[in-house]
Amino acid sequence: MIDGHGRTIDYVRLSVTDRCNLRCTYCMAEDMVFLPRRDLLDFEEIELLARHLVRRGVRRIRLTGGEPLVRKGVLDLVARLGCLLGDGLEELTLTTNGTLLAEMSGQLHAAGVRRINVSLDTLDRQRFAQLTRRDELGRVLQGIDAARDAGIAIRINAVAIRGVNDDELPDLLAWCADRGMDLGLIEGMPLGDVALDRQAAHLPLSEVRTQLEKRFTLVPSLHRTAGPARYYDVADTGTRVGFITPLSDNFCSACNRIRIAATGTVYGCLGHDQKVELRDIIRAGGETELDAALDRLLAGKPLRHDFNAERSEPALSRHMSVTGG
Ligand code: SAM
Ligand code: SF4
Repeated sequence: MIDGHGRTIDYVRLSVTDRCNLRCTYCMAEDMVFLPRRDLLDFEEIELLARHLVRRGVRRIRLTGGEPLVRKGVLDLVARLGCLLGDGLEELTLTTNGTLLAEMSGQLHAAGVRRINVSLDTLDRQRFAQLTRRDELGRVLQGIDAARDAGIAIRINAVAIRGVNDDELPDLLAWCADRGMDLGLIEGMPLGDVALDRQAAHLPLSEVRTQLEKRFTLVPSLHRTAGPARYYDVADTGTRVGFITPLSDNFCSACNRIRIAATGTVYGCLGHDQKVELRDIIRAGGETELDAALDRLLAGKPLRHDFNAERSEPALSRHMSVTGG
């Protein structure tokens, strides 16, 4: 799949639910209204869509949400999608808050998942409870251990938030390194109405890098994953730190992905409302129509998002939990 700007699209982020068992203040409002369950694609429909996308050249699928592991029966879906590995699909992975990994890691590994991202913004229990509005740090830490024991490689992802976890990021990097895990740092994006003052919380990652360099030797690395992180080797630890800088250093020219919401709405860009609706097309069973809709999406895929750290109001009313990270 080639988009209207000549970029090859071979990566899909597939949200399986917009629901979550946490309420991170930068992601969700406390009183979120979620999509009606009847509007979600069922597992047969998701599998059909995934097979179609793999036939069209998709090589990596990342399950996300909301919290992907809270969708009822999700391990069945992961097993179905795992069957595409080696048959066109090169990687099946997920982004999770980690709360359910203690129960699910074994089956995720058995389905072919070898690498996941776990979101963890702080190692302080009280801070975690404030930031996520749930006291679940213990379960997340158990989940991380369980996934590692099951043989799944982990990158920890943390959103850098001024006044919340900026004093803790060097310690978080050291904690990850002790466990042989890479750390991905993310700039908060202005999506959806939330209680957090995003303008005040904005923290350019160049500042964080300077802070990390007081304690670690960071060497620019050629390492790439399918995502937009720019990596540095941490010479002192043998691990890596990745910087995801949607606001301070735009990376859209190398965009390789589209995002599918749990309802079958496909978005060309996280920062725009350009989309096509696939659910009814999938239900009607038309492969030609499916291709035509995907081609429309690709032709109109925006060149870049226009996030602006100077504005306090959201760029879009859609929350991050609809499309996932
Ligand atoms: N629930 C899962 C999790 O937290 O990993 C998957 C979905 S979550 C929306 C995916 C990633 O997006 C997480 O790493 C989260 O920290 C990040 N995220 C959520 N809202 C964000 C925002 N407004 N700006 C930047 N990252 C955000
Ligand atoms: Fe849930 Fe992930 Fe959003 Fe936190 S970032 S509220 S864990 S979807």
